[in-house]
Amino acid sequence: MSEDSLLDDALVRLDEAAAHLSIDPDVIEKLKFARETTKVRLMIRMDDGSRKSFIAWRCRYDDTRGPTKGGIRFHPDANVEEVETLAFWMTFKCAVMNLPYGGGKGAVQVDPRQLSKAELERLSRAYIQAFARTVGPDRDIPAPDVYTNSMIMGWMADEYAQIVGQAEPAVITGKPIALGGSLGRGDATARGGYYLVRHLAGELGLGETLRVAVQGFGNAGQHIARLLAADGHKVVAVSDSEGGVYSAAGLHVDMLIEAKTQGRSVVSTVGQGGHEALAGDALVGVDCDLLVPSALENMIHGKNAGGVKAKLVLELANGPVTPSGDRILADKGVVVLPDILANAGGVTVSYFEWVQNKQGYYWTEQEIHDRLQAIMEREGRAVWNVSKEKDVSMRTAAYVHALGRLAEAIEAHGTQSFFTS
Ligand code: NAD
Repeated sequence: MSEDSLLDDALVRLDEAAAHLSIDPDVIEKLKFARETTKVRLMIRMDDGSRKSFIAWRCRYDDTRGPTKGGIRFHPDANVEEVETLAFWMTFKCAVMNLPYGGGKGAVQVDPRQLSKAELERLSRAYIQAFARTVGPDRDIPAPDVYTNSMIMGWMADEYAQIVGQAEPAVITGKPIALGGSLGRGDATARGGYYLVRHLAGELGLGETLRVAVQGFGNAGQHIARLLAADGHKVVAVSDSEGGVYSAAGLHVDMLIEAKTQGRSVVSTVGQGGHEALAGDALVGVDCDLLVPSALENMIHGKNAGGVKAKLVLELANGPVTPSGDRILADKGVVVLPDILANAGGVTVSYFEWVQNKQGYYWTEQEIHDRLQAIMEREGRAVWNVSKEKDVSMRTAAYVHALGRLAEAIEAHGTQSFFTS
């Protein structure tokens, strides 16, 4: 099977799931294509007075179960296929968690590290100007993704409010608390994965103290390292885009987070506290119990999956394991907790933010944690049960679980709603 196309690879999961359910083929056909994808060119004024343009996209993949929901990525390699694939995954992720949303995604092809803060703000505002009629609190609700953050969401929410002439905080999630953001959103993705591992630890046969390797040390990676270390687990390796660090005795997670907060790579801690240098691509094969890919897509593939020593992979990143990587891991008996379940804590707390914005009443951090834990455990248990009943991987089980819900909603709308006869 080819690994050329990210979207084709993603659609393989749909076919695998469909084989376990009796579903109208029209439903599968509908889910194979994005409903709408818009490409624009954003022109902004640079600080030196020149003008520069950037390609940007917004995809609303499927809105059968509710308004589309999905992050905005700023990345130099962003492309339309990646945007549509991420939106496809969001469609299934929201269905796995039973959130009342469809799936969407957006991106700007840009290296934000090359922009000043003022340029970044102009670009973020230009994105909302271009997509003002696409997004909306009941239509399409963006959120942060790779290289976007709460500050950017705040600028975008402000731009939208100026366009529509009133505050509309529910148009975007992941906002600063001061603009209607939710407590608990910052670490929600990692925390959801953490609750999931804790809940299924017995079934997965995990020991008391896990040795953990974390690939990617941004929002998801830093928080999972912190949460697991606080429980007494040993974070033995982490990496970022510049390389990795290793310590068999356990890395100093606080020191690593401090380095990132100061804008340095994790590599800058080599030589301190027993931290040794590790080649970034060696992280996947580090001797550990739990491997947590938290960077980008396609990081564990046909060529390196054979070297994985972990018993469990927690996919905090979206699409970090390719289908051929998956097959190799399955043959080795490695359990993969799939992205559409494992990293769904982020969109779940985004949903809580949207609910709080709409009701105008805000919950405490403890209430957010408790609600997140309840949903992660409920849906994690349901996916676990499907995987046992049907004797399939957790990934296939998550797709089966989501597809059942999507099919029910598509059929409830009536097929005339999306096919003209
Ligand atoms: P981020 O921008 O905060 O961090 C990304 C990290 O990956 C950075 O530390 C970067 O240096 C590192 N990285 C990039 N290339 C790498 C490479 N080749 N090897 C090792 N590290 C590399 O992004 P994030 O928000 O933490 O997102 C990470 C992943 O989690 C993405 O796949 C994203 O889609 C997914 N995700 C994030 C959220 C969220 O709420 N933040 C929710 C769901 C899924």
